[in-house]
Amino acid sequence: MATPHFKVHQPASLEEALDLLGRHRASVKLLAGGTDLVLKLRAGAVSAADLVSLNRVAGLNRINYQDEDGLIIGAGAHISDVAEHPAVRQHYPALAHACSVMATTQIRNMGTVAGNLANAAPSADTAAPLLAYRASVVLVERGGRRQVRLEEFFKGPGLTVLEPMEILEAIRVPAPPRRAGSCYLRLSARSQVDIAAVGVAGFLALDMQGAMMGVRLACASVAPTPVRCPEAEALLEGQEPEPQLLARAAAACVRAARPIDDVRASANYRRAMVQVLAGRVLEQCLNQAQGGAQ
Ligand SMILES: Cc1cc2nc3c(=O)[nH]c(=O)nc-3n(C[C@H](O)[C@H](O)[C@H](O)COP(=O)(O)OP(=O)(O)OC[C@H]3O[C@@H](n4cnc5c(N)ncnc54)[C@H](O)[C@@H]3O)c2cc1C
Repeated sequence: MATPHFKVHQPASLEEALDLLGRHRASVKLLAGGTDLVLKLRAGAVSAADLVSLNRVAGLNRINYQDEDGLIIGAGAHISDVAEHPAVRQHYPALAHACSVMATTQIRNMGTVAGNLANAAPSADTAAPLLAYRASVVLVERGGRRQVRLEEFFKGPGLTVLEPMEILEAIRVPAPPRRAGSCYLRLSARSQVDIAAVGVAGFLALDMQGAMMGVRLACASVAPTPVRCPEAEALLEGQEPEPQLLARAAAACVRAARPIDDVRASANYRRAMVQVLAGRVLEQCLNQAQGGAQ
């Protein structure tokens, strides 16, 4: 497979990157780690004469956490950096886990979390935990910035609300409350080497009386986009964590899924596994929120 010819531009600032996008608008693509884009260029699935690399844009690889504002992941932050960041591991264990088990070491060292979202694969491993954590994305163009909730970002396989001249600048994730738990579990035929056939993420906190609040469940690889499970969330919100209720919520997650048969799994297997994984995810979330090990 021959690599097509293209020019790589290396802007040093976001303004310069936006200018380059505008100047080459007919033929340009943004390049982060290139782990998705370069394969698509080589396969002829996308074409571009100009690539605007984000790798040298100052400040874009930041990962910052503050108790009041939560987490900011810059568009240049590599998956492996997010996986290993102490604040991500402490406050967002489901995201740290997703970033440490997805893909291979080489891909995690090159690929970015922002690229994983912008690529908009239904199987994107970082999407389900970020949905569970109520993340938003900051999108910037020459005219200004806007913040979009992640659940409104995905439009279909490979499709997002990103405008052609827009850059996903950062991912913002609110700080979790105390007594919270979160978890991401994925299944794939060949461990990390293969993309997930099913992924389920969850988040919940416990109030002073022990009732569940802020419950979020999200799935990957079982619908045209990563999806939340609103019926299951509503069943659990404000309730005591009784085993039968948790089992009903896990079953309700299946109704958010619209899986297909493909080389990775059948639709029936995916439906069955959503329920199994959702049950385990809820159990682990509760265990953490009640003070157990992560
Ligand atoms: C062998 C292999 C294994 C893989 N395994 C997994 C896996 O297990 N799980 C998984 O989820 N993925 C997997 N992937 C897919 C890929 O590695 C990830 O999606 C990665 O996070 C993409 O990030 P990137 O920085 O390389 O993006 P790029 O390839 O550079 O870009 C991807 C797309 O997003 C756009 N883009 C990138 N950054 C921005 C931005 N800041 N603003 C706007 N648009 C942007 C690009 O223009 C392009 O269209 C795998 C890939 C390979 C090759």
